[in-house]
Amino acid sequence: MASSIGAPKVTFSSSTLQHLCKKFPPPISPRYLSPNSSPCFHFRGIKSPSGGCRFFIPYRCFTVRAESENGAEPRHYDFDLFTVGAGSGGVRASRFAASYGSSVAICELPFATISSDNAGGVGGTCVLRGCVPKKLLVYASKYSHDFEESCNFGWKYEIDPVHDWRTLIANKNAELQRLTGIYKNVLKNAGVTLIEGRGKVVDPHTVDVDGKLYSARHILIAVGGRPFIPDIPGSEYAIDSDMALDLPSKPEKIAIVGGGYIALEFAGIFNGLKSEVHVFIRQKKVLRGFDEEIRDFVAEQMSVRGIEFHTEESPQAILKSPDGSLSLKTNKGTIDGFSHIMFATGRRPNTKNLGLETVGVKMADNGAIEVDEYSQTSVPSIWAVGDATDRINLTPVALMEGGAFAKTVFCNEPTKPNYRYSFCLVTYSLHTSKERKLLGNVVK
Ligand code: FAD
Repeated sequence: MASSIGAPKVTFSSSTLQHLCKKFPPPISPRYLSPNSSPCFHFRGIKSPSGGCRFFIPYRCFTVRAESENGAEPRHYDFDLFTVGAGSGGVRASRFAASYGSSVAICELPFATISSDNAGGVGGTCVLRGCVPKKLLVYASKYSHDFEESCNFGWKYEIDPVHDWRTLIANKNAELQRLTGIYKNVLKNAGVTLIEGRGKVVDPHTVDVDGKLYSARHILIAVGGRPFIPDIPGSEYAIDSDMALDLPSKPEKIAIVGGGYIALEFAGIFNGLKSEVHVFIRQKKVLRGFDEEIRDFVAEQMSVRGIEFHTEESPQAILKSPDGSLSLKTNKGTIDGFSHIMFATGRRPNTKNLGLETVGVKMADNGAIEVDEYSQTSVPSIWAVGDATDRINLTPVALMEGGAFAKTVFCNEPTKPNYRYSFCLVTYSLHTSKERKLLGNVVK
């Protein structure tokens, strides 16, 4: 089975073992240990934080007697922790667990700019298809406004500046390659074993990655979410946020369906890059759940910049003309001539075909994994953090949940994710009932 880099196994006398047991705190909280657990030590080679010299640290793993009635063969797990999904939450949890002295493996799908059932990449949504690439496109889009404003300060241009979309996307993708490489190094330097492939849970202590089985005392599910496009006629012509960040050419005229922060950020990007932008929202106002003044101000300022809002309009169908252009049919009429129609109508937990229901993990109707306040599922050895649990779907929250999980299980320090410290980051969502419950008394 897979093992950490250069991990010589060392056998200790019982007195040495007792000494080491005192010196190194147990990586697993007694609360989560079976009475049959007994500690043993292995050594794992890790690199120093500077990436230079390699040194060996002892880590504790646990041999547990199988709970079968006929023969009680001792069971050894390949890893203390096996994480499925190397996005924000999974990487943070795995790295922290390894730093507490546990043996950790993580599996992740092969890299692609657009996610699918078979493609993802180390770094996850935030790094490859969310916060980071979005921000790069925001930077690109803001120059056009700067050029315009600069004329009032005396700048003159012989010809209007021209934007080259291909250069932007090529440079963005080069940056994603660099970042995914950095994340791989972060895992390697922490001593986490990275396995490329699709993980599927086959029993409470076993994950199948493309046909190879790995056993672990604990399994962490950190598979994130995927964009969701409603099933209306012609939905196959629509694009989602993954695709919008990686188009071969800039949209000439784009419809963006949705009034949340992702929809509006993309509207701003394409407006800045000189596309004609129409935003369709079901409600009267954008940014449901945000402060009322912000909702009005943002919509007003975006309208001033030329973005056209279609309020109280729900899409019913997408039609494709022989010339390739798209029309959007709504409850109020049809608008023609779009080069692209983007849906930013929410994301769904990425939990299909993960084997979770089969092993008894309780799930919500939308596919979210149900967890307690320590991120433990209904199967005690299986845990879940981040967007897969559909609590507050933001990067700092996934990071915080991953860190709290690692502390609870591997540092003997039961820690609930503390949404109070994410307060300033989630102000937009304060008025929805679910976040209100999570934030408790902070929200009045
Ligand atoms: P992810 O980062 O999605 O990681 C899950 C990983 O699991 C993926 O890499 C996936 O490939 C992998 N995976 C899935 N299934 C399997 C499997 N079976 N086997 C192996 N691997 C698997 N948040 C912010 O805080 N600020 C922002 O500005 C922001 N902007 C965003 C913009 C966009 C367009 C989007 C889509 C999201 C944005 N977010 C933002 C949200 C943020 O990206 C997510 O909340 C965060 O990435 C969630 O982290 P996670 O670890 O739960 O999941």
